[in-house]
Amino acid sequence: MSLPIDQIRGLFPVLHQEVHGKPLIYFDNAATTQKPKAVLKALQDYYEKDNSNIHRGAHALADRATRDYEETREAVKDFIGAREAAEIVFTKGTTESINLVAQTFGRKFIGKGDEILISTMEHHSNIVPWQMLCEAKGAILKVIPINEAGELVWKEFEKLLTPRTKLVSVVHASNALGTINPVKKIIDAAHAVGAKVLLDGAQSTSHLDIDVLELNCDFLAFSAHKLYGPTGLGVLYGKREVLEEMPPFLGGGEMIKEVTFEKTTYNEIPFKFEAGTPNIADVIAFKAALDFIQELTKSKIRAHEDGLLAHANELMHDIKGFNPVGTASEKVSVLSFNIHGMHPFDVGQMLDAKGIAVRTGHHCTQPLMKRFGIEGTVRASFAVYNTRSEIEKLAESVAQIARLKNK
Ligand code: PMP
Repeated sequence: MSLPIDQIRGLFPVLHQEVHGKPLIYFDNAATTQKPKAVLKALQDYYEKDNSNIHRGAHALADRATRDYEETREAVKDFIGAREAAEIVFTKGTTESINLVAQTFGRKFIGKGDEILISTMEHHSNIVPWQMLCEAKGAILKVIPINEAGELVWKEFEKLLTPRTKLVSVVHASNALGTINPVKKIIDAAHAVGAKVLLDGAQSTSHLDIDVLELNCDFLAFSAHKLYGPTGLGVLYGKREVLEEMPPFLGGGEMIKEVTFEKTTYNEIPFKFEAGTPNIADVIAFKAALDFIQELTKSKIRAHEDGLLAHANELMHDIKGFNPVGTASEKVSVLSFNIHGMHPFDVGQMLDAKGIAVRTGHHCTQPLMKRFGIEGTVRASFAVYNTRSEIEKLAESVAQIARLKNK
């Protein structure tokens, strides 16, 4: 059974508008997805009916807000197949989740001469925190190379993996290329040398079924806003035994058990990592986004998006001057490309004039762009509400634009 796309589109108010006099075609989903009405309603309901601070109030509103906040934690636990809700920490986003691990796990467990492995296709948020840590600790950052298709070179990974490797931190699905990495294999190999593994799930969690127990990753970081949920909210999953060993991240209210001027003892996980008043409204509304995905099921969402990507490839591969970047055999629905003789930004502007929203540039993956010897790409990324006719419009527009320089 395919998805009822018209009905699904009806749930997303933002899609029903014109841009530059043309119907909006939103293909910038890897940057952020649009939000269904249920998420918008949950935000409004919270502020209209339940607005209060959580965990410490002695009144009905605080009870309701606390219950709803913790219900989202349960829903996230189920969404990724974690063992318990205490393993779910709310953060500002993938970026903060990775920084949290670097600043706590990293500071405690990674020392001089230890090695951290990342890959060539990492987002800057999975590069810079490790560089900062390595600089502070005298640890060494090593990078797994990729091939021309944008896939990890397994043999090189095996060579880089040694008993000195303390952490492997890799992207599950690349935001710039769409490549899906063989994370189960990576995790098993890393564990065999005693290294922990962090998965950057910013792009995978919306497309792929995720089961952290089956994967056996030590950490998973992702952002709500790429999952049809609100901005400014992310998740760090960590195994209980690993989170418990980690020192706290930020200090302040909520993360403590007892404070005296001489000494502070810390709260249990996950609260130890959630200092201060959290992003209550967005956490509560995130549950509506997870329910939306669970109801459709990821397998149907993925089948729909794979169909869109295949349709785009089919229509565009023989356009003269069309150069796809990242042609891995396993991909999420990201189509990165350049048009011969044209700057990606100019292509993006021309598409925008036709109502088509894409992203252009380095996609926060400058080392990856360098690997391909390019400045950037045009990236069209697809989501559950996109249609085959939108793909046809994209292909037609790209063909027109390519003809300007490729006769
Ligand atoms: N990693 C990847 C693969 C991403 O695509 C992104 C967002 N573009 C991030 C990390 C950072 O996510 P956020 O900006 O939500 O913290």
